[in-house]
Amino acid sequence: MNFKSLNLFVASSFVLAAAIAAVGAGALHEMRQDAYARAQEGASNLSLILEHDIARNLEIYELSMHSVIDGVKDPEILRLPPAIRQLVLFDRSTTATDMGSLLVTDEQGHLVLDSRSTPPRPVNLSDRDYFKVHRDSATARLYVSQPFQPRLTDGGQSIGLSRRLSHADGSFAGIVVGTLRTHYFRRLFEGTKLGPGGTITLLRDDGIVLMRRPYEPGTIGRSIASSPSFAPLTQASQGSYVGTAALDGTERLYDFHHVTGFPLVVVVGLSTDYVYAEWRKRAWLFGGLIVALDAMLIALSVLISRQFRRRLAMENHLRLMVNTDGLTGIGSRRALDEAADIEWRRAWRNQQPLSLLMIDVDHFKNFNDHYGHAGGDDALAAVARCIADSIRRPGDYAARYGGEEFAVLLPNTGMEGTIAVAEKIRSAVESLAIPNLGSANQVLTVSIGVAIAEDRARFANLRVFFNASDEALYEAKASGRNRVAIAADKAQRSVAKIAAHEG
Ligand code: GH3
Ligand code: MG
Ligand code: MG
Repeated sequence: MNFKSLNLFVASSFVLAAAIAAVGAGALHEMRQDAYARAQEGASNLSLILEHDIARNLEIYELSMHSVIDGVKDPEILRLPPAIRQLVLFDRSTTATDMGSLLVTDEQGHLVLDSRSTPPRPVNLSDRDYFKVHRDSATARLYVSQPFQPRLTDGGQSIGLSRRLSHADGSFAGIVVGTLRTHYFRRLFEGTKLGPGGTITLLRDDGIVLMRRPYEPGTIGRSIASSPSFAPLTQASQGSYVGTAALDGTERLYDFHHVTGFPLVVVVGLSTDYVYAEWRKRAWLFGGLIVALDAMLIALSVLISRQFRRRLAMENHLRLMVNTDGLTGIGSRRALDEAADIEWRRAWRNQQPLSLLMIDVDHFKNFNDHYGHAGGDDALAAVARCIADSIRRPGDYAARYGGEEFAVLLPNTGMEGTIAVAEKIRSAVESLAIPNLGSANQVLTVSIGVAIAEDRARFANLRVFFNASDEALYEAKASGRNRVAIAADKAQRSVAKIAAHEG
């Protein structure tokens, strides 16, 4: 575990959190679409059933009108006594609930036949919109009138279904009109379940409102033709869309069916608030859970990574402490052992030489006795700096071996280079010119034993290698100190000496 893998751990927990959020959002989206589909299905079924009911009733009424139209063309029927003629012309359907009167006018609008009265009531209909439409246009087919208050009965607001009567030459002969109380639609609409904010509207194809649930007298007879929510109704015989109501500004899911055979359209609207109410409740719960889960996941991963980070930093600090000598700042004995082990194996693997310098301060006991232990420690730090400054190559490693002894590892450095480094250290310490009265030339100096492992035959293992440099150091001491000695082959037991600098 390192800092990089910790970052990866935190990053992957973020990715996991994002994935959970994405899956959750996808599920919520699907649930929302389901809610819409279910609501649309319900609205569509309802508007279809309403459309069927209206179409069926109007059709029956229209059949009655047709039999009247056929009847008034027949001179024999017109000659029948009025009471009999009524029975022949007007069947029982005209007496059904919410059916008004079936009336026939002449070209001036005077009633000539009346399903509710013989003789016909003395009324003129020439001011009604349905009369004018048929009088002014020979091509007008079945006409559904604007809602009006009937003059003949007190049955409440009605609409008229009318057809034109023509003479044999095609000229206007009057109209047949059947009136129908709008209460029929109101009762039909109010018998269904819609949920809060739901509406059912019956419109004429030109946008005039004939009935609406909830019932508000003010809206009946109004035109919504100019509102944007009307446009989709003119595009197809049935369909559904989401729109904002012209009448109350509420957004709804609308489903409409045109009434087959009549210039009418039924529109069922479910408030989108209601359509999504259940979904919204679940979305809050589900969404909240996901957010909480994500927050927990992220918080947990951040906490864990912070804990690990602290531990890593601590470990690094401890490792540094263990591997660094406190007094001199160069490597510790422990670190040297580790480095020697690694370099020893690397050297053999790569067929490269490895050199070891063992450095001991000359007459240091004297120095301590003379300058005190604190002065001795300062001198050791100065010597360590000389050593550290004399090795430059990456891989070169200097450490305090113990007391006033130091060791330097030089990987991939031959005899000549090793002797040069050793000599550089020796002369650098001498050049410090730290007074040491017990020493031959009155300054602090070091003796250095060198071992160079160029092939495996010479040193069986690392211990032997270290011992060789120790022995060389001993030789350096024995032959006068302030010098570098190189470990010779054991067989010869001789020591090659480099002339000490006598400055
Ligand atoms: P030489 O090496 O030249 O034969 O003589 P020496 O007096 O230096 O002998 P040796 O190497 O045996 O000296 C060891 C002395 O070094 C003992 C002690 O007084 C001193 N010494 C060892 N470690 C430390 C240390 O950490 N700080 C100080 N101030 N002195 C130390
Ligand atoms: Mg010593
Ligand atoms: Mg010494």
